[in-house]
Amino acid sequence: MKISFLGLGHMGLPMARNLAVAGHDVVGFDLSADARDAAREAGVAVAATGTDAATGAEIVFTMFQAGPQVLGAYRGTDGAPGLLDVAAPGALFVDCSTIAVDDARAAHAAASASGHRSLDAPVSGGVVGAENATLAFMVGGADDAFAAALPILDVMGARVVHCGGPGLGQAAKVCNNMILAVSQIAVAEAFVLGERLGLSHDALFDVAAHASGQCWALTTNCPVPGPVPTSPANRDFRPGFAGALMSKDLALAAKAIDRTGVDARMGMLARDIYNEFASGPGAGQDFSGVITTIRSASAQEQEQQ
Ligand code: NAD
Repeated sequence: MKISFLGLGHMGLPMARNLAVAGHDVVGFDLSADARDAAREAGVAVAATGTDAATGAEIVFTMFQAGPQVLGAYRGTDGAPGLLDVAAPGALFVDCSTIAVDDARAAHAAASASGHRSLDAPVSGGVVGAENATLAFMVGGADDAFAAALPILDVMGARVVHCGGPGLGQAAKVCNNMILAVSQIAVAEAFVLGERLGLSHDALFDVAAHASGQCWALTTNCPVPGPVPTSPANRDFRPGFAGALMSKDLALAAKAIDRTGVDARMGMLARDIYNEFASGPGAGQDFSGVITTIRSASAQEQEQQ
């Protein structure tokens, strides 16, 4: 069975490599020459173009940054054939990019109109999860497409959840990351407030990690150095999960909130806070680094009092 893997960036390359290492016939492609070179060095076969990679493929993975890239590659641009035109009849398209729910549904519709099956299957777990094959997949699409993809997704991930029909994998991703953003900000604000009140980081951590404030943002991604030695705060907020990506995911959440009319004030505020964070040095920092902007904004407020 030929598997085509388009998008060999931070996430896509280790995912494609894990498929190849497991013995699958994988042919990859990326628009970036550097990414193609890195893939060859990692032992992944690379085609000359995206459509070459996908020609005759029975499974086509995409791992791009944004929805328009997925739709453009599926349909083809400027009259050129797209991936949907060249894959084997009845192929299975699996898009692992994090994109808007509406874009994912448009991709499903395009695949179906071309006689293919499709899934949206965004991931969490980051580059480390991609390298170690411990990703969590959130999958939307028909039951038969999910059943066909499951053994392949299992090669790249530790947890695969079928969330429902087309677009619902992206829906789960956007909801999860909105929880994460709000809780990471709440934890950061609590540490800065604790500092102002004379409370040590260790004391706050020892209480909250075992009380009702417990959450992943505190016990895994703790935004102060010390209590969780593996958290990005201990290495100058090297990501982890970069502020720019969190900002991007919250823009997707905002789009969904707008369309559904949900009263999600915390989510929208988190979107604004992460936009601000990611418009400066926070873009390349782990998103837990938002504590530094909260701390400096708090210092300014105190000076004005
Ligand atoms: P990346 O920018 O490193 O990789 C994307 C790659 O897609 C690039 O190399 C780009 O050249 C390539 N590309 C774009 N259009 C293409 C096309 N038509 N044909 C072939 N290649 C094309 O991004 P990434 O960090 O690997 O993230 C990919 C997706 O995964 C994003 O949607 C991101 O939000 C999501 N994600 C990332 C992380 C993370 O920690 N990096 C974690 C979870 C989810």
